[in-house]
Amino acid sequence: MWKPIVEILILWFVIYHIMLFFEGTRAIQVLRGIVILLVTFFLFQKLDFEILDWIFRKLFAISVIAILIIFHPEIRQGLARLGQRHLFGTTLREEDLDYILQQIGKGLENLCKNKIGALIVLGKNDPLTAYIESGVFIDAAVSSDLIQNIFTPSSLLHDGGLIIQHGRIIAAGCLFPLTQNQDLSRIYGTRHRAALGLSEETDAVIIIVSEERQDMSLVYRGRFYKDLSREDLLARIKGIIKLKREDA
Ligand code: ATP
Ligand code: MG
Repeated sequence: MWKPIVEILILWFVIYHIMLFFEGTRAIQVLRGIVILLVTFFLFQKLDFEILDWIFRKLFAISVIAILIIFHPEIRQGLARLGQRHLFGTTLREEDLDYILQQIGKGLENLCKNKIGALIVLGKNDPLTAYIESGVFIDAAVSSDLIQNIFTPSSLLHDGGLIIQHGRIIAAGCLFPLTQNQDLSRIYGTRHRAALGLSEETDAVIIIVSEERQDMSLVYRGRFYKDLSREDLLARIKGIIKLKREDA
């Protein structure tokens, strides 16, 4: 009698954690769909609907292959994440992190004042290799001057995003996937859509300076934190990185 209860609990635990893992990514909608399909399938079997049951069985076999193909980037990243544990945060000392954040804050504030747009990505756990390869490799110390220089419109690298990893500016002019989110307001152009897109695929912390509105926003795990002051922005970034340190 107790066995089905234990089984249900285990199943609930596993499904809940799979959902958490995919939260904020495009896989979550599909996952919800799969759960609904599984429940329907279970009902058909219980009610002995033979034809519907047969069709569902056939569909399932095909959908397993379809899921593997559609989600191969997510699956690959998930597996890579299991093996990778060197972080933006843990390899840095507190003072170094503070210094880097100050430089970023100063650089972005100046860009903002001068009505120049920018997109900066702070890598955490997830590999950003594909995105780094889409831009120009740099590997330089983080400084506000370099950040401003890169985003100045006459710079060859001003288009696209700048990636910071392990406390270094790794690449600039990088391209990110645009979000598929249809609900996003029209006032957000491609820069904001690229930031949101990347945050749905990876755990990177992304900062945007809007040249149209002259404000700074933070994007993390598919969420926007709009119109932040320099202090707010840096405090939030620190909070996110600290959080990571504790569970790393
Ligand atoms: P802003 O508020 O600054 O105007 P926006 O969200 O309205 O930003 P656009 O005006 O379309 O966006 O900004 C265009 C800039 O966004 C491009 O010059 C480029 O630097 C950047 N950008 C566009 N697409 C991508 C992409 N896929 N990946 C990275 N950066 C991109
Ligand atoms: Mg625009």
